[in-house]
Amino acid sequence: MNEQWKIIPEFPDYAISNHGTVKRITPGAGTYVGKVIKPLSNQTGCVYVIVGRKTRSISRLLQATFVPANPVIAEIKMVHPRTREEINAHRRAKHAEKRGSRLRKKLSPAERLGRDRAQARRYQATHRVAARIRLNKWRAANPSSRIPAEHERKARLKGNGGSWTLAEWKTLKRQYGHRCVGCWKTEAELKVLGRKLVPDQIIPVVEGGLNHITNLQPLCHGRNGCNNKKGAKYFDFVIS
Ligand SMILES: [Zn+2]
Repeated sequence: MNEQWKIIPEFPDYAISNHGTVKRITPGAGTYVGKVIKPLSNQTGCVYVIVGRKTRSISRLLQATFVPANPVIAEIKMVHPRTREEINAHRRAKHAEKRGSRLRKKLSPAERLGRDRAQARRYQATHRVAARIRLNKWRAANPSSRIPAEHERKARLKGNGGSWTLAEWKTLKRQYGHRCVGCWKTEAELKVLGRKLVPDQIIPVVEGGLNHITNLQPLCHGRNGCNNKKGAKYFDFVIS
């Protein structure tokens, strides 16, 4: 490799070659143009020279003179975070940049709810069929969830109105110890017999009974079930 010389940026009175030789390039007291600076070495084997009353290793001078400044490295150094806060801010900024979005602002619970609802509405509007299929699947897997709706529908047909929730029905069942008020068998015993507890209107809807939790009693339904025997006859198992 041909020997090339470059002025050392930090010490303009000296030049360094790509072979690692340092020489004086300006006149001065006690020195002359072209004087080769004698390299020294320390105990660790680092070869250095004394230039402009400063000690610099040859490798450092070579790097500073011949290796072009890397713009990427320069940028990294510039933004290199030091404190924990800076590190986090830097990560957030990089993350946001990656996603092609500005830093998202923190939403209040109400704003979050609004956003979720808007998202759900948009989803429902664009996925009507898929949403309906999923709802039907869920309803098939959770048959008891349909009970209030079914009763509401039947009661609405009769024009009685009123409504009750699944939670109210569960509470009612618990109040009766999960037993049928007709035969006083528990839900577990009824399951063996192939029956299940259903909400029964004490005053039937056809006779003007309200579809309200206060007009309901748990009754077994199935083969020989109390609900099947009862039919539409007025019969309050609880008070009779
Ligand atoms: Zn029963």
